[in-house]
Amino acid sequence: MEETVLSVRRLSKSFGRKQALHHVSFDCQAGRIVGLIGANGAGKTTIMKAILSLIKSQGDITINGQASTFNHHAALADVGALIEYPGIYPFLSGRDHLKLFARPTADKVQRIQTVIRDLHLAPYIDRRVKGYSLGMRQKMGIALALVNQPRLVILDEPMNGLDPQATKDLRELIKKKQAQGTTFLISSHILGELQKLAEDLIVIDHGRVVHQTTMQELLARNQHFLVLTTDQ
Ligand code: ATP
Repeated sequence: MEETVLSVRRLSKSFGRKQALHHVSFDCQAGRIVGLIGANGAGKTTIMKAILSLIKSQGDITINGQASTFNHHAALADVGALIEYPGIYPFLSGRDHLKLFARPTADKVQRIQTVIRDLHLAPYIDRRVKGYSLGMRQKMGIALALVNQPRLVILDEPMNGLDPQATKDLRELIKKKQAQGTTFLISSHILGELQKLAEDLIVIDHGRVVHQTTMQELLARNQHFLVLTTDQ
């Protein structure tokens, strides 16, 4: 039987008079890669921020069977996330950041080494983050999301700033982590970025879920749409 890692029910959020989310509901099943797709401003980041309790929202969020609310964060213990471009301490090295973010358990050093290897960070990990390019910063942000080897990983536009090789490497890494049991929720405004990655798709438009499907179904049914938006 499928196990639900993340359940979002009737999630709504207003910023002043503007309602950004309208009763958004979806699930992420264990070990699946779920894509959250929508145009800029559709509400993807707001959904992720609400799941991570960074903003107050209405509705019900359950992670690994535990209710998560704005004031009760226990359900987030096994969640890693990248939200927008990571703001990082400029005068610390990449390795220092990993040391700060990694949970201090017996395998901490090993987890840090694993993520440096997995994301090919070695050439610059001991340099100050101040001199990192956008792509290097993005990879650092992804490393911070993965370093504790969480069960659920939430990545907001993770391909932003990455060159084609780094994009391909990240796709392979996500699939490797999936094979080890990790569940992913990944946003993008480019369908082609998710096409070779996500199995389940949630399409967001103006703060509403307008379509929920599998990538397989979409490929079979919507060829014309895909021709217009396929790999960049
Ligand atoms: P993008 O890829 O451009 O970030 P998105 O799909 O992630 O797009 P959101 O950032 O979630 O979209 O924004 C959804 C809507 O909510 C937009 O209309 C945005 O202007 C609005 N919004 C988001 N954050 C705030 C805020 N802090 N204050 C006011 N409005 C906001």
